[in-house]
Amino acid sequence: MDFSRRESFRLVAALPLLAYSQDRRIILREEWGARDPNPDPHSVLYTHFHDFDLSLLDIFGVMGCFDTNMLEWLAVHHSGPGASIATVQQIQEAHMNNDKSDIAYNWVIDRDGMIYEGRFWFVMGAAVGASFESRAQVEEHGRLVNPRESPNYGVLNICLIGDFTRSEPTVEQKDSLYWLTGFVSRHFLSIEKERVIGHKQAYLIAQERGVTLVPECETLCPGGIEGVLDEVRKRFGEEKSYKPGRDLRDYEMHFDFRERSAIRFG
Ligand SMILES: [Zn+2]
Repeated sequence: MDFSRRESFRLVAALPLLAYSQDRRIILREEWGARDPNPDPHSVLYTHFHDFDLSLLDIFGVMGCFDTNMLEWLAVHHSGPGASIATVQQIQEAHMNNDKSDIAYNWVIDRDGMIYEGRFWFVMGAAVGASFESRAQVEEHGRLVNPRESPNYGVLNICLIGDFTRSEPTVEQKDSLYWLTGFVSRHFLSIEKERVIGHKQAYLIAQERGVTLVPECETLCPGGIEGVLDEVRKRFGEEKSYKPGRDLRDYEMHFDFRERSAIRFG
């Protein structure tokens, strides 16, 4: 991948960079040595730019571009029994070896509470699974035609390293999760606290869309952390209410990518 493509990735990813640069708690992809994502015709981009450059769709090899207001869900995962001490590099490797275009999660939090940037937030995730309907679309057309029938559509994903069917997140992990979800809450106003779920509750997404999850979606992920998720939801609502005057115009300001790219590249 040449520099101009690399730069395009980063320009589109510019939204979170202000927060990233003010608070160095998120380790960027280039800092942890992430592999570049592969094109993914089943995926979509979310954008709020009015002057969005459609040629970026080619760069990402995705099928289309949707408004960020389509981001409605936040799912929390654990890395699970087989990967309870995995690194973010190992998780990306495993996912890309399993036919995914990139690591499936948007952020990964390790046992020390370090937060790693995963899949760019503006690229549709791949951590929730499939529905019979989305699978049929891929079989018939070779790609998703109606992405809304995929349970991955409109979902941001955070993964905590560990196996919480048999252990607990560390204090540092929980602290970072609350900080990160606060960040998500302030920047993605279309996600309501009622739509913050553990992976195993993905049936709620399917129900709302009138689709049926395939049996392989059956999961224990993220184990027994209901109390942590309750706390996330509580704080998620509070974070939003800190900014009572925030409206769509404020929201759009957060998507001024020229400003963000100046911060990034200046
Ligand atoms: Zn999961």
